[in-house]
Amino acid sequence: RSQELSQARIDYHVALQALQEQGTRMVCTGKMHTDRICRFDYLCYSSEAEEFVFFQSNFSVMLPNLGSRRFQPALLDLSSVEDHNTQYFNFLELPVAALKFMPKPVFVPDATLILNRFNPDNLMHIFHDDLLPAFYTMKQYSDLDGEARLVFMEGWGEGPYFDLYRLLSSKQPLLKEHLKNFGKLMCFTKSYVGLSKMTTWYQYGFVQPQGPKANVLVSGNEIRQFASSVMKKMNITIVKTGESDRGTVEHENKGEANDQYVVIFSRSTTRLILNEAEVVMAIVQELQMRVVTVSLEEQSFPSIIQVISGASILVSMHGAQLITSLFLPRGAVVVELFPFAVNPEHYTPYKTLASLPGMDLHYMSWRNTKEENTVTYPDRPWEQGGIIHLEKEDQKRILKSKEVPRHLCCRNPEWLFRIYQDTLVDIPSFIELLKEAMKTKLNLRKGKATSTVHPGRVREAQCQTSVQTTKEAKLSVSWQIPWNLKYLKVREVKYEVWIQEQGENTYMPYILPQQNYTFSENIKPFTTYLVWVRCIFNKNLLGPFADVLTCRT
Ligand code: UDP
Repeated sequence: RSQELSQARIDYHVALQALQEQGTRMVCTGKMHTDRICRFDYLCYSSEAEEFVFFQSNFSVMLPNLGSRRFQPALLDLSSVEDHNTQYFNFLELPVAALKFMPKPVFVPDATLILNRFNPDNLMHIFHDDLLPAFYTMKQYSDLDGEARLVFMEGWGEGPYFDLYRLLSSKQPLLKEHLKNFGKLMCFTKSYVGLSKMTTWYQYGFVQPQGPKANVLVSGNEIRQFASSVMKKMNITIVKTGESDRGTVEHENKGEANDQYVVIFSRSTTRLILNEAEVVMAIVQELQMRVVTVSLEEQSFPSIIQVISGASILVSMHGAQLITSLFLPRGAVVVELFPFAVNPEHYTPYKTLASLPGMDLHYMSWRNTKEENTVTYPDRPWEQGGIIHLEKEDQKRILKSKEVPRHLCCRNPEWLFRIYQDTLVDIPSFIELLKEAMKTKLNLRKGKATSTVHPGRVREAQCQTSVQTTKEAKLSVSWQIPWNLKYLKVREVKYEVWIQEQGENTYMPYILPQQNYTFSENIKPFTTYLVWVRCIFNKNLLGPFADVLTCRT
């Protein structure tokens, strides 16, 4: 039904002739397979071979033209997970002449984004690996607008959250299994292959233990733009409470204690909070706040997001459902609970998210430190943390251990055993943490939303020197304010000056409030100094250095 392609929109014979004459054309970005996205004209797919096909003609373009390096290890990553050997993309080559002997191609007229979903059964993976990367890949290429076609090649079924993928475009996404419905050979008029990794913040531990990516390139701003777009498409109305949103006036003390509420995101099948009712009671009594409980088994996803988007505090066991904290309002608190023997510092996808600059969330973790409060499941299947399939010695060691040592993904039995425990939450320590959270939240709110505008270079930097005695000299440096400063209200403007004696490999750094300074300490006569000056806004917004000054005393 919705998989039908509007063949009317392209002239079949024109398309076929273009393919026969010009063949496939490919131009890519990225020097490495891990940062590559390719744009194709007339990339084809053979459902018989289950391979993409590049038709070579005298007019084909293949950039980069890697020769057989295209297989070392692949042309590109088809999922956003870096260099995963089950997620590689490549194509087969055929001369256009072979078309004569092949079934008539079906042409896909829509601009198409071809990718692999990494793990469409798991909400964290869905958002982090698929939705955010696809959303921003589509922003990167204007052909990929709201009517782009998405094609998921990982080979899985729709999965439980296919509706979320439907939000990316008005066209029904296609799965690999759907492609054979289009005949033996289908050709994408215009397609992009691969996903931007720019928004991902976490690596799952395939080559080193899991943790934040080494070079995170996304800020809270982009995450929130994505979240707003998703919420808009779900028709979620943002209810403004006392939360401070950037650019809006704060409603101080206006009955806000009443409209603040805590959301407990509970899991109903595994990794349970065993005394949830008690936890709810304690929050109501000790913090005088309303508590709303949500779970994926009981509410629709949009209704959960609606509730979370107005929450002051989100409490949940470690787990994929915590990705929904990206829908929390600014200033909210995320409290992540960890079962016994699981170190919160070793599993930080949600901490990293909450701590992204500009995300403006406050993150706290709570850990069950009391072994008597944990319930283990040694008899379960291994993927749910069972350990009875292991050697007796290994079982004993795991049962004795008080903390899971760092490990690689994904089948470490000790990790699975511990992470699938149920927990009786210790009320006093939990409430203490929550009170702490409320205090920090109040303090944070006093601090106004700060700007993220960086200083420009300082202008007209110059130096003057004078020699006092054979041992003493002076070096005066002055500069003008950065050009953008005159349009800004900046709480604190400071300047950093680095002075390096030419040929030395160390320098002296100084922080100054004013636009000129005369240095005399450590300044020697008849010496050449290199001087760098830059501006700093509000302690941590660093500007670029102006061109280096060469100053001879
Ligand atoms: N899940 C759920 N309720 C549960 C357990 C899991 O809704 O009681 C969801 C969870 O949010 C995730 C998926 O099922 O989307 C897989 O959960 P799993 O425990 O395997 O992964 P984790 O949450 O540890 O990432």
